[in-house]
Amino acid sequence: FDRMKQAVTKTRDSLGEKIEGVIALTREVDESSLEELEMVLISSDIGVATSSEVITALRERAKRQGIRDGAELKQLLKDHLKAILDEHQKPTAKIAPPLVIMLVGVNGTGKTTTTGKLAAYFRRDAKTVLLCAADTFRAAAIEQLQVWGERSGVEMIKTKQGGDPSAVLYDAMQAAKARSTDVLIVDTAGRLHTKNSLMAELDKMRRTAQRIVPSAPHEVLLVMDATTGQNGLQQARLFTESAGVTGIVLTKLDGTAKGGIAIAIARELNLPVRYVGVGEKIDDLLPFDSEAFVESMIG
Ligand code: GDP
Repeated sequence: FDRMKQAVTKTRDSLGEKIEGVIALTREVDESSLEELEMVLISSDIGVATSSEVITALRERAKRQGIRDGAELKQLLKDHLKAILDEHQKPTAKIAPPLVIMLVGVNGTGKTTTTGKLAAYFRRDAKTVLLCAADTFRAAAIEQLQVWGERSGVEMIKTKQGGDPSAVLYDAMQAAKARSTDVLIVDTAGRLHTKNSLMAELDKMRRTAQRIVPSAPHEVLLVMDATTGQNGLQQARLFTESAGVTGIVLTKLDGTAKGGIAIAIARELNLPVRYVGVGEKIDDLLPFDSEAFVESMIG
């Protein structure tokens, strides 16, 4: 809870204070305070569509039952944002090992770093973990992941740079199955300038995984950089349409005042936010908790 709070401090400074500003002036919740609140929400990257939907719901509530004061308005806002975040959350299904998690996303969003952090996260939970370095395109990705793996004492299956990602995944799947490894985490390439071939490659990887474990991959996590805000949503749509994404990892939340993007993602992509990245170190990855998030965002 505290770590989430620290990470979302900037959003809190901007959004929380602005909301306090609106609320302090609100003796009676009327149209002008709702309009002002809408502007505040849009400015924190919650998105125009989502902000307008939230305000419409609050307006209806004000008409129906009335909203007593600023404090009640704030509580209703928090409940509403939490409900949007929770709508798509569902617990990961229990499956026989290996649980196969693929990370996808554009280069630079933090995919390799998140793969390494996730390995450490599951190790802390006493799970056995295997890494698969299937970003065989980016020169440094394989070595970078190797370093992360060594830090948490996790083995990595790799091939040479330029090798076939599906071939290395096949090997990793076989190893994970033979050893009954709890979690196999797969880093993938993210060069978007050849997006059709990237999507074809990701599709081939999914089919390769399914040859060994028919239900795999169990999670396809799209890694998104929170600092790219609304622009990131466009990229995200492409991946969700073509790569069977099941959830989002929102990275670099420590570097932005616009954490509201998490709400736009949930609402506009219909996907749960699974984890958030809050720094560059190995334990700077937190499982997403909507209550903690909304509390730390608005206070
Ligand atoms: P990839 O190309 O998607 O694999 O991206 P990398 O994993 O190489 O990460 C790109 C940069 O983002 C690196 O400098 C990381 O240290 C940094 N990074 C990743 N996640 C976070 C985060 O949650 N917070 C911060 N501040 N930096 C991050």
